[in-house]
Amino acid sequence: MRDHIVAGNWKMNNNQSETEFFLNKLIKQTKPTDVRVMLAPSFTQLSQAVTILKNDRITVVAQNMNAEFSGAFTGEISADMLKEVGVMTVVLGHSERRAMYHETDEVLAKKVKTALASEMEIIFCFGEELGHRKSGKYFEVVEKQITNALFDLSEGAWSNLILAYEPVWAIGTGETASPKQAQEMHAFIRSLIGQKYNTSLADKVSILYGGSVKPNNAKEIFSNKDVDGGLIGGASLNIDDFMAIVNSF
Ligand code: PGA
Repeated sequence: MRDHIVAGNWKMNNNQSETEFFLNKLIKQTKPTDVRVMLAPSFTQLSQAVTILKNDRITVVAQNMNAEFSGAFTGEISADMLKEVGVMTVVLGHSERRAMYHETDEVLAKKVKTALASEMEIIFCFGEELGHRKSGKYFEVVEKQITNALFDLSEGAWSNLILAYEPVWAIGTGETASPKQAQEMHAFIRSLIGQKYNTSLADKVSILYGGSVKPNNAKEIFSNKDVDGGLIGGASLNIDDFMAIVNSF
């Protein structure tokens, strides 16, 4: 049985008092015991989030980290710095990082190795752009992203990996992949892992869908066999919407 996961990605939103307000409400909510809830606030709020959530089962996640362990990288954050404040999970490869900060598959492969060497868990994001979807190249693009960044990892490394398929055309646009499109891609990803490694490993990997997941579409998306949950942007900023999504399995 794979983990069901709902992870909120706050991006560059929520300052200190907004974070405190949200999290204090969140800890009072009754959460399903069979869903892993995760939340990725900004770097400056990680420490506070870990403190507020210390008695809760919610995993605090960083939105990014550097591929190097330390050194002259102005403005960057290392795996050790995250771990020092109690953060053991990191999002890597989000499409905004790929598009705006030029994070290539090669850079991401290095980040993945650094995170794993630091014994961190990874939510690894990938997904095709609208042009790829329209030209029918989406399977090819996704296969390349996964192969380049993840397929030289050992089988053991996969126990620290969560995948997040996020079609770029669905992120923040209000446009969602249809449940059929999501299932089709998730099944494809699982079959790739099965071919490269083995089906028992493929069956254990949680694959999240991300891209305009809202309370009114979460249930339908999550009900697909190979969709194990969601990475939620906009809707994770509102506690009622976020909780409605958490309760959508
Ligand atoms: P969205 O963002 O839910 O606002 O589309 C998803 C994401 O970027 O992870």
